[in-house]
Amino acid sequence: MCTLFQREAAGRGSLIVLGVGTLLAIGGLSPTLLPAQEVDVWSRPVQTERSRSCDFIHYRVSLTFDLDAKLFRGENRITLTPLSDGVDRIELDAEEIIVEAAIGEEGEELFFERSDTSVFVSLPRPLAFGDTIDITVRYRGENPQGGFFFDDAGEDHPRMVSTDSWPDEAHHWIPLYDYPNDKVTHELIITVPAGDKVLSNGRLVEVSEDAAAQTTTWHWSQDLPHSTYLFMLAIGPFTVIEDSLGDLPINYWVYPEDEGDARWIFEKTPRMIAFYGELFDYPYPWAKYDQVTTPHVGGGAEATSATILGDGVIHDRRAEQDFSWERVIAHEIAHQWWGDLITLREWSHTWLNESFGTYSDYLWTRSEKGDDEGAWDLLAKKNQYLREARTRYQRPIVFSRYEEPGDNFDSHTYPKGAVILHQLRYLLGEGPFFRTLSAFLHEFAFEPVDTHDFMKTVKEVTGRNMDWFFEQYLFSPGHPVFEVSSEWDAGAGEIRLTVAQVQSRDHGVPVYRTPVQIGIVTPSGKRVEEVWLAGERDTFVFPSQEEPLLVRFDEGNWLLKEWSYLKSQEELLYQARNDDVIGREWAVRELSASLDNPEVLEALAAVAAEDPFWAVRLSALETVGPASGPEITELLKTASSDVDSRVRRAAVRLLGEIGDPGLIAFFKD
Ligand SMILES: [Zn+2]
Repeated sequence: MCTLFQREAAGRGSLIVLGVGTLLAIGGLSPTLLPAQEVDVWSRPVQTERSRSCDFIHYRVSLTFDLDAKLFRGENRITLTPLSDGVDRIELDAEEIIVEAAIGEEGEELFFERSDTSVFVSLPRPLAFGDTIDITVRYRGENPQGGFFFDDAGEDHPRMVSTDSWPDEAHHWIPLYDYPNDKVTHELIITVPAGDKVLSNGRLVEVSEDAAAQTTTWHWSQDLPHSTYLFMLAIGPFTVIEDSLGDLPINYWVYPEDEGDARWIFEKTPRMIAFYGELFDYPYPWAKYDQVTTPHVGGGAEATSATILGDGVIHDRRAEQDFSWERVIAHEIAHQWWGDLITLREWSHTWLNESFGTYSDYLWTRSEKGDDEGAWDLLAKKNQYLREARTRYQRPIVFSRYEEPGDNFDSHTYPKGAVILHQLRYLLGEGPFFRTLSAFLHEFAFEPVDTHDFMKTVKEVTGRNMDWFFEQYLFSPGHPVFEVSSEWDAGAGEIRLTVAQVQSRDHGVPVYRTPVQIGIVTPSGKRVEEVWLAGERDTFVFPSQEEPLLVRFDEGNWLLKEWSYLKSQEELLYQARNDDVIGREWAVRELSASLDNPEVLEALAAVAAEDPFWAVRLSALETVGPASGPEITELLKTASSDVDSRVRRAAVRLLGEIGDPGLIAFFKD
């Protein structure tokens, strides 16, 4: 079993949720020639970036809450400047809230009109380009439903308020321009019953108490511009666990009963922030970093400087190996750069947030847990995309067809884009790749961006025009499906390797141009050759006087691909014992067709017992498990006390499937 990220299927809520699924054995299956198109993404409407007449600069929002009645009343003082002469009417997004008045700078009442989703405020005079004015909108909210949650005290959480403004829900509690292409600063001045705490973006300016009214007012200020879907608010009797990284305040806001587990669950946060700051060569950008738990987000939502996490993040230590949220915590922290510091300007470019966030969580996993866990995480991401590609649809990663922004928050945006970044890293090399990421952040900090901004940065930093790469991986759907074969010619002293690309070409799926590494292992040693694939069928010749023990396609596992590669049993047995984790696990599954051979069965049993990596042991166990016999039963019994809980669980399940009454005593023990 492997824990994977998955986008919530539809509707409001989290940016990612945690899912658990068994990896499909995609690499070893016969290639898919026709992509499944269960969902017709091509009939969705084409969306374009929203136009606006003003540059909104600052929102100063004051809200007073009645938590029992689920009401709030307040105002937003809006500072704006027009983008042309003659602007005399301002459109604000406003839904579910009741607008009571619009006020000009002199305190005069301004005429306003409503629609279901907007408020139109008429200005006292037409503005000229360069003018800056303030208008104030007074309003109230009565238990709004869009991205805003009043919760009564329940079994699992206290009475509280939380928000999830993604992708355009902030206007359900603040009248504003609710689209990511205009970044603003803001203040939230929130009055709540004494005893409750308030969290929002930015720095805490002050907390003041009104003893007579028995209220507390929390004044938060987001001094650096960001997009409105990143606005957040949380109110409740949280316990606040204080942590730090140098001068940077880091706090964990949790329900009081969760304090003990929260301390160890969040304890890597400062190291993660330091890791990303160094890796991206851009210091953490915001005034502080908070994480808060709520009942309404399935995974995490990366509000600027204040990530909202589903309260499922809290669990006891025993559950950590199976239900760790470490990757979610890392992913949301990475969003403080990818998504919050630079932000997609329109929802076709979701990958600039999510692929970069997902690639970043892989980078943390590899750094923290080693190369094998990193490689396995990357394989899980590839397979997550391939499942969607095989069963639902294939679309370009940068894709302007969507009904709702959330349509594109899928396994193309998260894992496929992450793997494409990994391939770009291979092509550019370590230094140029990470210098490009850093330059992209530095050049576009606090600005909305699109994919061409990134493509331009690649050119400027590396000097290389990689448009062909982006064309085939970002602007075209699909992925390569390779049929690989090789043979050793003893007389000629050479290995001939043939690679055919057999993917369906529907909707412009290309024949891929890509480098690939070929590993060649002979009794004398191992060498790695790089070749370029470019045609529907490419053949390469490598001199080799010795018969190879192993010819490895895609050494290093850089490519997103489906592939088949028929090999001799002998070579597979060698590979299952000697390749890297990805190759060993692949060979184990390929050998499942040869279980009637006692030598194969014995070798796989040895892998199940001895391989150093849990996922290879697990695959070997699942491969040999269905074979019956006393040796297999003994193997499963031994594996039921494996150091890894995932292997143990599989062993117990497979033992149960044997259905041998003689095992009852074993289970009782
Ligand atoms: Zn994300």
